[in-house]
Amino acid sequence: MKILVTGGAGFLGSNLCSRLLNDGEEVFCLDNLLTGRKENIEDLLKSPLFKFENLDAAEVEKLGDIQFDRVYHLASPASPNRHAPRSYLALPFETMKINSIGTWVLAQFAQTQGAKFLFASTSEIYGDPLKHPQKEEYRGNVSTTGLRSVYDESKRFGETITTAFVRYKDLDGRIVRIFNTYGPRMDRDGRVVIEFVMAALNGDPLPIFGDGKQTRSFCFVDDLIEGIIKAMESENTKGEVFNLGNEEEFTILELAEMVKKVTGSTSEVEIKEALPEDDPIRRKPDISKAKRVLDWEPKVKLEKGLNKLVEYLKSKDS
Ligand code: NAD
Ligand code: UDP
Repeated sequence: MKILVTGGAGFLGSNLCSRLLNDGEEVFCLDNLLTGRKENIEDLLKSPLFKFENLDAAEVEKLGDIQFDRVYHLASPASPNRHAPRSYLALPFETMKINSIGTWVLAQFAQTQGAKFLFASTSEIYGDPLKHPQKEEYRGNVSTTGLRSVYDESKRFGETITTAFVRYKDLDGRIVRIFNTYGPRMDRDGRVVIEFVMAALNGDPLPIFGDGKQTRSFCFVDDLIEGIIKAMESENTKGEVFNLGNEEEFTILELAEMVKKVTGSTSEVEIKEALPEDDPIRRKPDISKAKRVLDWEPKVKLEKGLNKLVEYLKSKDS
């Protein structure tokens, strides 16, 4: 198959491209390197089955008349850390544009080509959820004007656009709501796992925002990629929405302790500043639908996954 991956030079996108190439597919990566890195796809560029175009994904028509069988739309900044230069808070207009206009253009592109389409949405569409764990039917507790709204609300609109193309234009589209994912090829973009691991490896304090009692559920990237492909390829997923993530919930303090254990670091855990505005207090996916329909569930436990990330970072340095 010929497969288009937008955001293919990013963390998840490059892992997806790599997996698809291993599966023998022809992969076209469309990425403007806004938050991604050429380094992520350096190895992939050696394959004759892989092509890269440095272009805004909303300008997909510039690719000319290549016919694709699948369109995975992952392009979007993804880090909420206000200290990070490439977070979506630092790129508010780019973030809104690619998730709204970009999703519109790509859904239309897939529909006119007769290609299957997948939109990478996020657990952030549930906002600061009042129900735990979050099921797909839950409508969330989201702010249209809060700090995170440029991301949350544009992803919500991206979901609406995808659904409208399915409903009114017969697009073969689906949506995955991705919960916090970590693993090799992560950039140091302010997200908690990579910040803690890098701080621990450098012997710096692990910076906690708030009291550290807020929770997240962390999924290893290989598990997530398997779920994304299953959402695209399984029968009867047209028009469906799937939560993809790991059900094991940890406080941020527990994560910090686990990172210290895995790295063997003696770094302090430091309460750095107040919890940022709009920062969700609890987050945990209900993945019973993905288990039932996709026959998918994550296999890698947090400690093992962190070990793999640390091994990867050390091998890159050596
Ligand atoms: P990332 O920042 O590593 O990758 C995003 C990629 O999109 C980058 O390579 C970037 O350069 C590219 N990009 C951004 N705007 C673009 C545009 N206009 N045109 C072309 N390319 C563009 O982030 P990631 O963690 O790999 O996230 C990938 C997708 O998954 C995003 O849509 C994100 O919202 C979603 N997601 C990720 C997570 C996670 O835990 N990693 C959680 C929820 C949702
Ligand atoms: N966080 C933290 N220290 C950091 C980065 C993040 O304590 O250096 C916290 C952040 O406030 C949030 C959680 O860790 O409560 C997860 O943050 P992340 O940026 O990974 O993504 P989010 O799940 O908030 O989108």
